[in-house]
This record gives sequence, C-alpha cells and structure tokens, in this order.
Amino acid sequence: MTRSWQIQMQNAFTDLQTLCDYLELPINDLNLSQNAAKQFPLRVSLAFAERIEKGNLHDPLLRQILPIHDELQDYDGFSNDPVGDLNALKQIGLLHKYHGRVLLINTGACAIHCRYCFRRNFPYADLQLNKQQENAVIQTIQNDSSIQEVILSGGDPLILNDDRLARLFDEFEKIPTLKRIRIHTRLPIVLPDRITDDLLVIFKNCSKKVIVVVHCNHANEIDDDVAKVCQSLGLANVTLLNQSVLLQGVNDNTAALCNLSEKLFEVGVLPYYLHFLDKANGTGHFQVSKKKALALLNEVQNRLSGYLVPKLVVEKAGELSKQYL
Ligand SMILES: *Cc1c(COP(=O)(O)O)cnc(C)c1O
Ligand code: SF4
Repeated sequence: MTRSWQIQMQNAFTDLQTLCDYLELPINDLNLSQNAAKQFPLRVSLAFAERIEKGNLHDPLLRQILPIHDELQDYDGFSNDPVGDLNALKQIGLLHKYHGRVLLINTGACAIHCRYCFRRNFPYADLQLNKQQENAVIQTIQNDSSIQEVILSGGDPLILNDDRLARLFDEFEKIPTLKRIRIHTRLPIVLPDRITDDLLVIFKNCSKKVIVVVHCNHANEIDDDVAKVCQSLGLANVTLLNQSVLLQGVNDNTAALCNLSEKLFEVGVLPYYLHFLDKANGTGHFQVSKKKALALLNEVQNRLSGYLVPKLVVEKAGELSKQYL
C-alpha cells in the first residue's frame, strides 16, 4: 500500500525546531534566521529529510532547505525577477519565451522550499490558475500551431491532483499540432509517492511524447524509493531527464557532480541542464563563480561519458534560448 502523498504534503516539516529535533541538530549552531523563514517559509517533506545525515551540519541536502541569515544579505546584481519572467507573461499562467514551446504555471505550490529557488520572490498567489484561466491558456495553445511542446511548470505541477492533470491531458490530446508534453517537477525526488498508479496511467495512455524533467542536485537525493518511481515512469514510456542547479556548498565539486550523473543514469535519468544560479534576492550565498563553474564542467567532461555531462547554462532575460555559460 502506498502512503497517501496528500497526507505527506500536510505533514511536511514547516517548523525549524521540529526539523532540528528530527535531524538531531543543535538549533543554535545553524545560523538560522526566522526572518528568512518569514520571507520564504521552511518546507521539507519527510521523504527528503530522511536522506539528510543526522547531526551533520554540512549535509548537502540540509543546505538546500535551511533558512539562514545569509539570505538577508544583499548581493550586487540580484533582484526579485532575475530572468524576466514576469515581463514575459503573455497571459495569466502562460510564459512564451522560446520558439515552439510554452511554459504553463498552473500552481505556485511546492512540496519543498529550495532556498536557492529563483521563483522564491514571485507573487504566486496571483499566478494560480482558476478553471476559466486554464481554459484560456489551452485556447491560446490551440490557436497557435507553432507551439509543439507544452511545459507544465510552477511551483510544482505534480501538486495538481490526478483528476486535474487528467483533464489537462485530455485537452492537450485534442490539439493535433501539439507533439510533446513536458513536466518540470521535483516531486519524483522529494515525494516519490506522488507518482501514483493513476498518474502512470495518464502518462501511458497519452498519445503525445511525455517528458518528465526531474530536479535533483546531489546523489544523496536518490534513494530506493526514487529509483522505483523512476523505473515506473520509464515503463510508462516517459522520457526522464534531470536539471540541477550549481550550488556552493551542495554540489560545487567534481566528485559530487560526477556521482550525481552516475546515480541519475543508474535509475534511468539522463542529465540535461546544470543551471548557473539565477540571481534572485536571498540566494547570493549559493553563488559559484563563472570561472569555477567552467573549470568544474571541464573536469566532469574529462571523467564521464559524453551523455552523462549536463549542459551548463544560464538564463538571460530577453534571449531566445538558455545560454551556454
Ligand atoms: C527554460 C524554459 C523553457 C524550456 O527551455 P528548453 O531549453 O527547451 O529546456 C521554456 N520556456 C521557458 C519560459 C523557460 O524558462
Ligand atoms: S521545487 Fe522547484 S519551484 Fe519549488 S522551491 Fe524548489 S526549485 Fe523552486
């Protein structure tokens, strides 16, 4: 019997003391900030917290989720909308920046709050799609035959329940010019039980190509449960890719990056993008210099098979694609 993912969502850690008790961490040694947590609340699923080493102040997974004082510091060139997404919003819930593909933001909610997230400062409450707005977005895709691919993003689109996703997929199914449905989600990693049998049926029955791009930054994020759902997704004819963010203190060394690629491939996921950090306020302490990023990629390239090397990219407002660093 699978554990209900909705109940796991409700039971996520949102309180610093409770999380520190669970992780056997001394709350006073962590440089924690209640103010940072006020700006972007603490949120961690138990499934993710279970993979954090107890008592380890420097755990690479822990660093991704702890609200610390460094977030309150200002950094040059950082802003609330570093990639110009708010400007690129064509209509509520729809981003059309690149040729042939549109990005849908159906929900702003996530199962985990990643401190480095470039959307941490977004007015998400205003971006939630109601049914009427969702219909309008579908209409736009239907009317524009240059759109071959729709990308469900967020927030995390798999926060939507199976009925809502089934409805969306039904609508997409009716648009002949649409060839691919891509889902950008961290849930297979941070809440593997979200991959329900019903969801797998939706994917499997879809006549369009379905691509799931997971988001995983460190090999320790992949445990047996993650491996199992990745296998199930593969069996449902889903193409699996990964995107990660290059993060100081998390994966900014050759061994971590190589291990991540190897582990991903073991569970059937190909490395796709390694993102250079977007300069969102509150994330400056995660920054890796451009010089170091390029050196790291070079070392990874010298060690791994070509298909295990992610593309190191950065997003620039106004460009027609992601840019190589
Ligand atoms: C990143 C992104 C995409 C997808 O780009 P790919 O290079 O195809 O992965 C699409 N739309 C927007 C707005 C994006 O930010
Ligand atoms: S899951 Fe993705 S969208 Fe949600 S907080 Fe993490 S990086 Fe941001």
